[in-house]
Formats: sequence, structure tokens, C-alpha cells
Amino acid sequence: MTEILNTLILGSGPAGYTAAIYAARANLAPVLLTGRQPGGQLTITSEVENYPGFPEGVMGPEMMEKFREQAARFGTVVHDETGTAIDLKQRPFTVTSESGKVWKTRTLIVSTGASALYLGLPNEKALQGRGVSACATCDGFFFKNKVVYVVGGGDSACEEANFLTKYASKVYLVVRREALRASKIMQDRALKNPKIEVLWNQNVTDVLDVSKGKVTGLELTHTKTGAKKQVPADGLFLAIGHQPNTELFRGLLNMDDKGYIQTVPGKTATNLEGVFAAGDCQDSYYRQAVTAAGSGCMAAIEVERWLESQHA
Ligand code: NDP
Repeated sequence: MTEILNTLILGSGPAGYTAAIYAARANLAPVLLTGRQPGGQLTITSEVENYPGFPEGVMGPEMMEKFREQAARFGTVVHDETGTAIDLKQRPFTVTSESGKVWKTRTLIVSTGASALYLGLPNEKALQGRGVSACATCDGFFFKNKVVYVVGGGDSACEEANFLTKYASKVYLVVRREALRASKIMQDRALKNPKIEVLWNQNVTDVLDVSKGKVTGLELTHTKTGAKKQVPADGLFLAIGHQPNTELFRGLLNMDDKGYIQTVPGKTATNLEGVFAAGDCQDSYYRQAVTAAGSGCMAAIEVERWLESQHA
């Protein structure tokens, strides 16, 4: 007979691992399924400078390895598996992973994170990995002495643009408005970097050239005049935000119009008793490693108290 877990955690970013550390220390013997990207978004970032406790900064992948080790130290069983089917109608809940394994659990912590958004241009996907990327840290190395464009005006776009100047000869930052959304410190770094030029009021509206099998240029459209021009380019990096990885829970849990799971204000409890959501899958506002970790801690404590209340 399949063992019934106290809690199953889906996702292995700061939220999932922190939930695991707390749940394991509460003797709940948690099981964590990492998902397709073990360690989550921080494994495709460079240096994390704003996580307390690391005054010199820490590389994202290294930090996530430490999270995993800490979760395992207290007995969390971690599987490099992805949940692909879920039944929340019956208790215990059932999650089936892609290998076909079935997990039964009294409570579920959803910490599936978020993924990078793309522009949705017809040629964009075809040229992904051939000059189109949403991760400068992963792919920047391939653009030594090349001309690259970064789309977006937030912290990610400024960070990626700065990072790319280590390799590229020129980095254009394509901003659809006349202002950056990024924090002041990130804006200053980008605007002061001699290799970065900001193109205000511009959208990328096409990626060239599919027939050559790689990015050779872009079509830019002025957002006010509608004027179009083609520019030569070796790379296109998207940094326009993220969407929550919550497809599996559509129709099962309450979500907002962008797909972020809704939780009880100030808590991680969802509309379904025994299901808790932590980290970027439920947070469209802060989206920080440290806030994700904090909500993971909250989820584990809520799980513990909810399980206790069932025995009362
Ligand atoms: P944001 O949502 O903050 O910014 C997205 C940017 O992309 C905005 O400038 C937006 O323009 C632009 N954009 C969105 N859609 C399009 C589109 N279709 N075409 C062109 N431009 C588009 O996302 P980020 O990923 O930058 O940041 C997310 C969170 O993570 C933030 O809270 C940020 O502070 C944090 N972060 C912190 C970092 C750090 O401190 N080191 C590093 C990276 C992220 P518009 O402004 O017009 O809406």
C-alpha cells in the first residue's frame, strides 16, 4: 500500500526548500519533488547580492545547493521528479509524477515558482537557443564581442544588460516606455555602463532570420510613431517578467487573472483546506528569494498546525 505522507512539497526554490527544512524539523518527514528545474530560478541567475547572511554575495546555484543540503540534513526526502497529475478532490491528495510514481499526502505545499515570459513573436521560439534567450547568465558566454539586445526595463533587464557587457561588444536595452521600472541602484549601474545604450519607446516586433537558423537582426517599432526599422543583432535576451507555474492547479485552486494562486491574506492557506502555496507561484508583488523563503517557512508552520487541528 502507498504510504500516506504528512506533507508533499512541489518545487525546489527558496520557498520549497525552506518549507522542507521547517517541516522536517517538525518531524513531518516531508517529501519534496524538485520539478524540472531543480533549485528553481536562482540556478539561472548570477550573483545574489541581497540575500541576508551573505555580505560578499553568493552565486545562485551555490546558494540553492546549500538550501538542498540543509533540507536533506533534517531528513527531507528529495526526488528529482515533476508532478504531472494531481487529484485534490479526494483525501489523501494524490500527485502523480512523470515517472509514473504516485504520492499520497495529507497536505500539499505548492511552491512551483514562476518562469520567464517571452514576447510571443512567431520567430522567437524557432530561434530560441540560436540567439534568443531569457537567461543571460546561462547564455551570455556565447556572445563574446557580439551585439546583443535586451528587452525590458525592470531589475532583471538592467541586471542582464550589465552582465552581458562582460562578453558583448555592445548591449542595447530596449524599453517600451520613457522610463525604467528598475530600482535606482540597478538603473544607475545600467545607465552609467559605457557599453549599454538605452533605446526608449521601442518594441522588438520581429526576430530575423529563421532561414539562416540564427539571430541576425531584429525589427524594432517605435511605440509612439509606429516607425519600423531593421537592425543587425547577434542576440536577443528577454527580461520582461515571469508567469507563475500553476497550470497543474487551474480549476482546482483559486487564482488571480494572471494565474497566481490566491491565499488567505497574511497566510499561505489556499481556498482548499490542507493545500498551501508559497513563493513566486502565489506572489506577484515581492518575488524575492528572501520573501519566498519566508513564505515557505509560513507554509510549513501552517501545515503543522493544520495537521494538529485534525487530531484535536
Ligand atoms: P518586472 O515585472 O519588474 O519588469 C518587467 C519589465 O519588462 C518592465 O520594464 C516592463 O515594462 C517590461 N515588459 C513587460 N512586458 C513587455 C513586453 N511585452 N514588451 C516590452 N517590455 C515589456 O520584472 P523583473 O523580472 O525585472 O523583476 C521581477 C522582480 O524581481 C522585481 O520585484 C524585481 O525588483 C526583482 N528583481 C530583483 C533583482 C535584484 O535586486 N538584484 C534582480 C532581478 C529582479 P513596463 O515598465 O512598461 O511595464
